[in-house]
Amino acid sequence: MDVFSRDQRSDIMRKVCSTDTTPEKLVRRLLHRCGYRFKLSNKDLPGNPDIVLPKYNTVVFVHGCFWHRHKGCRAASMPQSNVDYWRKKFSGNEKRDRRVKRELRQLGWRVCVVWECQTKLPQKLISRLKRLLDSACSYENHPDNLAYKAAETSPVYKVKKK
Ligand SMILES: [Zn+2]
Repeated sequence: MDVFSRDQRSDIMRKVCSTDTTPEKLVRRLLHRCGYRFKLSNKDLPGNPDIVLPKYNTVVFVHGCFWHRHKGCRAASMPQSNVDYWRKKFSGNEKRDRRVKRELRQLGWRVCVVWECQTKLPQKLISRLKRLLDSACSYENHPDNLAYKAAETSPVYKVKKK
């Protein structure tokens, strides 16, 4: 059995599929409030990032934990029915995300992923984004910056260890 009812699931889908979901708006609001100027999604860039900060050479994706499979995140649970279908779907999403990131990095963009669950802790999120954006200059020469990579993945909803 799916952990969500059919109605709940389609409600989730609707929210996930709309182009201006609440988490995206929240991230835009946070950035704006802190004085960062950005462009909204840019269809000319691979993967059509949610936020583009040309001055900082940075694009931001606001990813739903479920669809984009936030590692170690409770919100990325595997539906209990149609498992094969979901597996295929998720692996397609993950492949696309990896390709898009690679293409953007090759074009010289820094790619920042904000996970939906991280928008629940806006204070923490904005200090991470500030750190990232304010390091834009020094970062350019260090595409494998470890601090940045670590910040990219930590989930808010940790899967409880049994
Ligand atoms: Zn998450």
